[in-house]
This record gives sequence, structure tokens and C-alpha cells, in this order.
Amino acid sequence: MLKLLRKIVTEVRAESDLEAVLKLIVRRIQEGMETQVCSIYLKDQTNQRLVLRASEGLHQKSIGSSLSECEGVVGLVANRAEPVNTDDIEHHPSYCFIPGTGEERYHSFLGVPIIYQRDVLGVLVIQQHDGRRYKEIEESFLITVSAQLAGIIIQAEASAAVSKTQLEKKPQLDRCFIGVSGSPGIAIGNVVVVSQSAEMDAVAEREITDTAAEVKLFETALEHVRSDVRAASARLAEKLGEQEQALFDVYLRMLEDNSLAGEIVKRIQAGSCAQWALSSVILEHTRQFDRMDDPYLKERASDIRDLGRRILTYLQEDEGPQSIEFAEGSILVAEELSPAMLGEIATEQLSGLVSVKGSGNSHAAILARSMGIPTVMGAIDLPYKKLNGRMVVLDGHSGRLYLNPSQELLDIYRAQLKAELEQEAELDCLKLLAAQTLDGVTIPLWVNTGLIADVQRSLDKGAEGIGLYRTEIPFMIRNVFPSEQEQTQIYTKQLEAFAPKPVTMRTLDIGGDKSLSYFPIEEENPFLGWRGIRVTLDHPEIFLVQIRAMLKANVNFGNLRIMLPMVTSINEVTESVALIDRAVMELCEEGIAVIRPPIGVMIEVPAALYLTRVFARQVDFISVGSNDLTQYLLAVDRNNPRVASLYSNYHPAVLQALKYIVKEAHKEQVKVSICGEIAADPAGALLLMAMGYDYLSMNANNLPKIKASIRSSDFSQVSEMLRRVLRLSDSGQIKKEIDRSLAAMGLAKLINSNTAANDCRG
Ligand code: PEP
Ligand code: MG
Repeated sequence: MLKLLRKIVTEVRAESDLEAVLKLIVRRIQEGMETQVCSIYLKDQTNQRLVLRASEGLHQKSIGSSLSECEGVVGLVANRAEPVNTDDIEHHPSYCFIPGTGEERYHSFLGVPIIYQRDVLGVLVIQQHDGRRYKEIEESFLITVSAQLAGIIIQAEASAAVSKTQLEKKPQLDRCFIGVSGSPGIAIGNVVVVSQSAEMDAVAEREITDTAAEVKLFETALEHVRSDVRAASARLAEKLGEQEQALFDVYLRMLEDNSLAGEIVKRIQAGSCAQWALSSVILEHTRQFDRMDDPYLKERASDIRDLGRRILTYLQEDEGPQSIEFAEGSILVAEELSPAMLGEIATEQLSGLVSVKGSGNSHAAILARSMGIPTVMGAIDLPYKKLNGRMVVLDGHSGRLYLNPSQELLDIYRAQLKAELEQEAELDCLKLLAAQTLDGVTIPLWVNTGLIADVQRSLDKGAEGIGLYRTEIPFMIRNVFPSEQEQTQIYTKQLEAFAPKPVTMRTLDIGGDKSLSYFPIEEENPFLGWRGIRVTLDHPEIFLVQIRAMLKANVNFGNLRIMLPMVTSINEVTESVALIDRAVMELCEEGIAVIRPPIGVMIEVPAALYLTRVFARQVDFISVGSNDLTQYLLAVDRNNPRVASLYSNYHPAVLQALKYIVKEAHKEQVKVSICGEIAADPAGALLLMAMGYDYLSMNANNLPKIKASIRSSDFSQVSEMLRRVLRLSDSGQIKKEIDRSLAAMGLAKLINSNTAANDCRG
């Protein structure tokens, strides 16, 4: 059965058309389970009816007939989201006969729900003549098949909705794809898909105007691969036997004009871009070989895949994300938006970003927020490869993307966009004013930076210091580690622009979702792996170069603070401090008059939380990294969209932890700031202020809004809100209490600026 399951899943994955997918599923299950009927009913989202979409065994003319959710045993399976297994369907209390299907001949019935992310998509049914109850093993098998197929059906369905033929036939207006909010705001524009991995199935379709140029591109890439294969063959000639050597000839033959290459060129000539033509031909061939049972022939699939990947790599070298020119207002869609990609491309022209992978607290999303570009993350079902050039509406507040927007939807979103721009302009007047409550309590507002452009943006918004400079960002956009001299120049820019205001530089925090192309870290569990201080303490040469560069950059300004990420134990602090002291001493010996800057640690893991007071005795300041702290306290990967709804800064455990840290640090008279995203949320900022945080650090774009919230509230009322919130034990209740309190303080408008779109979504 396991073999059958694998076969079905592999074959079905290879089909892109929904009808073909459904037909294949029913045929394979009917054959494999040796039953007389297999059918799939899918829910029509417009009228909630269960439509018979494919069947092997029932009359084909009945395909398309439907039942309401309360009708029949099929309706019961959907309604209860539970299997029904009976040997006598006609006498089942929910039995309802659909005329014309021919099902009156079958007595046994087994129906299982098809569920995707808690939603019932439809029902998978098998039936047969003789009145026998299907065995338990058959029931478990059908449940397993259904669970595996749900995601594939969703994808095929989404892909069908955006296919050219469907659009020409009957475009589905306002087709919505749900992700999570990456960066707030609205964008309306045309999609540009950027694929960055040399994986065949990540390639996106693109219209071309110059066929000859595209053929030329392909032929150049092909010639590179041919000469690579010849070179490899020559290199290994002495070591390999004749038989192995012959493999290279097979490779070269596959690349000949009358073989794969010829097919690819034909597709380009028919209007496909080189990458899409290559990937479609390679995928078709590999699928054919994958389906074969013979292990030798199966292996040929990997040869073809390998050749395809090699050609694609050369094609992408000429068309990397950096070389793409975006028309003004474009919306970039990528399978996985990475911080490095955002550093490389010209983002000025972009009005929105969409990432199929990642979540609201991924570093790419954090950067998007700091750039103020509306972003949707984790749109896992988006058929992004087919979206090039399509007009979409992106709602970064709710994390939704609408394809084929109707005029009504466009009008609503355009009006909201205008209102948001006006509100932003209104807040500009706060630049020089303090973040002070109505009853006179003040808190300095700092910024988080990383990109060069962040400095000017932060100064323009009236930032009073840098609470977190993510030094890994400039490392990510290079091909090798930046030298001490280069780093000194980079850090000088930050310190100079802000002097004499404080600039908190975090030492290199790589690992997790932040990787350096030239220092790859491959791990099963990267967020629990080699991250932050763990990497740099294992590589003191990297750490020391960075510290020396920071100290040298600080010579003329004196506003540097050094901060250590991801510490879990006191020895990590003492070792890091010892290295910093060594760098100070060595530079002084070299005749450079550096000073020892204040040194702080980030509280980002539960272990550090309980050691706050111990750390506070060793360092000059504490800063809370609430993004990671929330992830580790709640055991929710900040990068995984599937669990995004479980990630909450307002979980009672997170709020208690945040309060505990301030209390502990203050016992040692050590100041505490927070640089996680909760500080960039008006409700979060107010709660943190009431908890006693000494500084708040956030992305520059949110700073005016936070300042406006603080200036419009009363500290005593906010403290009252905190007291009430800390008594609650559930995030949902806490959110409600916060919304109620903020509305009572008259802050609702500032906080819910996306009401128009909420209304429109009903
Ligand atoms: C955090 O974890 O809250 C933090 C500020 O660090 P980063 O988001 O860069 O991991
Ligand atoms: Mg962190």
C-alpha cells in the first residue's frame, strides 16, 4: 500500500491540470484498491455544494452533479469531517440517491473527508457491489491518501484558476490567496517573478519578445555545460574505466540538437522564455523516467535533472535578480524572499513583495518593514510561477493577495491607499517632538537598522539612537567576508550619521534564516543550531576582525555600544567580553586610541531570560530580542507560515517574560531596551513602556506611529491596561482587552488603519 501511495503521489505531482489530477487519483485508487468505484467530490466555494468532480465507476455523464452539505452520506462525511464506512449504504439514515450516477448498484461505501489546514475541501469515496464493510487497513489507507492529496489538490486548483485558458474562459474575480502579513500597507501593481534557485520546478513562466535572443541565451548556456562535461571527462580519464567514461558520452548525446536541446529550442521558438522551455522539457522527461519501475531507467531521471540544473545555473547567471529591471510600481514575487536578495536588487521601483515561503518574523519580512514595502509572506498555495505580468492587489495588513481584482475591489483599495498616505504625511510633523505621554512620561525611541538607506530614513523620522544595527546585513550582500577596512568604513557611516546619539551594533548574527553564500551552514534544525554568538565564538578570527573594525570606526565619535546576540550561558558572555577587551588592548598597543564601549547582551532564549540578573551584573545594558524570545518560548518557528497563527507576542507567557526581564535587570540598575518587532506595534510599545522599559527600538517606518500613540495616551491609563492584561491567561482575551482599552483611549484609528479593506473583506 505504501508503494501504491508513493506511486500515486509522484504521478499526481507531475500533473498540473486539476481535472487530470482528479482523474488520475480516482483511476489509481480504483485500480490499486481493487474496488469498483472511486470518486472525488469537491466543495464549490461559491455555493458550498459538493460537486462530483471525477469518478472511475460511476456514469461519466453524472460528473458535475452536486449535493448540498446536508445531503447524503457524502454530505455527512463532509459535515462531520469524519469517515463513514458501511456495507449497506441504502439503509444508512443519511442515504440520498443521486439519479443518473449508477450508484444504486453498489452497496459498500467508504467515504473520507479531504481536509486542508482544517478546511474540508471535499470527500473521497470508494464503493463496491458486494455488501462488505471495508477493512480497517483500507480505511486507514484512504485517510492517508486523502491527507497527502489535499495539498496537491489545492495547488492544482489554484494553478487552474490562473491558467491562461481559464482566464480566457471565465476569469475568477478577486481570487484571494492567503499568507501572513510581512509588512503593512497596500500595493496595486504588476507581478515580476524572481526565481533564485537552480531548481527546475522553481522556474517561472515569462513572456518574451525576442525569440532569437532567447535561443542565443540558451545555446550559450548549453555550450558552457558541454565544455564542462568534456572537461570533467578529460580530468577523470585516467581514473575511470571505459564503461564509466562512456557515461560522459551519454551526457553529451543528451545535449545534442536532435535530443533534449532540440526540443527546448522548439519550445522557445513557440514563445516560451529559455528558462521555462528548459524546465518544462526537463520536468516532462524526468517524470516519465520517474514513473518507470526499472531502477536503471529511474536513475536516468537524475541524469537529466542534473544536466537541466547545470544549464539553468548558467541561464540564471545572466539573469540573476540583480540584473532584472523592474518597472515602477512592480510587485516582486519570489519563492523565498531572502535578506540577501533584498540587499541585492533595486527595491526603489517596487511597490510590494510576496514570498511563498517564510513568515511575518522572517528576517526578509523585518527588512521589508524597515524599507516600508507592503509585503505578504508565506503565501504557500500561490501558483507564483504563472503570475509574471499579472495585475494584483496586495494587502500587507492582512497578508492577502488578490488576483484578477474587480473594479469594486480596486476602488476600495485605492481609497485606502490614499488614506494611508495622507495619515503618514500627517505624522511627519512629529519628527522633532518627544515621545511623551499626556501626563508627562517620556521614553526615547530608537531604530533598528541594517541597510545603508536605513540611516537617512531613521534620521528623517526623528530617531534618537540606534538600538539594533544588524551587522549581518552588509555581510549578506557580499561574496566574501568583508575585510577589517571595509567593515570600518561601513560602521563609520552609522556612527557618524548618528553621533553623538548612541549606536548599538550587534555582533554578527548568522544562522537560522540568515545565511552567507560564502559560509554555508547546513543544518536539520537551524534555529536550534549554530547561530549568533555560537558561530562567532567558534570563529574568533571573524569576531575579532569585526570588533576591531567597530572600535576603529568609533575613534572619532565615541557613540558605539556593542551587543551580543543569542547568548544562553554566562561563559559566552565572559568569553566575548574577554575577546572585546583583547581587541581594545591590541589596538591601543598598535597606537590607535580606542575606548572600551558599553557592552550588552540580548535576551532571546528562555535560558537567558532566567539569567537576566546574572548577565546584568556582567554587562552595561540589556536588550530584549522578542522575536526570537517569542519563537523559543512558544516553540513556534518564526519562519514557518503553517504555525504563524500560533506565534504571538501577546501570549501571556511572553508578556510575563518581558515584565520579568525588566524587573530583574533593574534590580542591578541596568537599563533595558527592546528591539524585537513588538516595540513597533502601538499596543506593544505602550505595554512595554508601562512595564518599565527604558528604550524602545523599532523599524524607522513605524516610529512616527508609535510616537503618535504615546503622545495620545495617558501613562496611568496604560499602566492600568497592563495590570488588566497581565491578569489574563489567553492571547485571544488579551488582544480583546488591548483593543477595548485602546479604543477607550481614542487610539483605535491609529491602530486599525486598514478598516476599509476589512469592511471589503466582510
Ligand atoms: C529578535 O530576535 O527580536 C531580534 C531583534 O533579532 P533578529 O530579529 O535579528 O533575530
Ligand atoms: Mg534575534
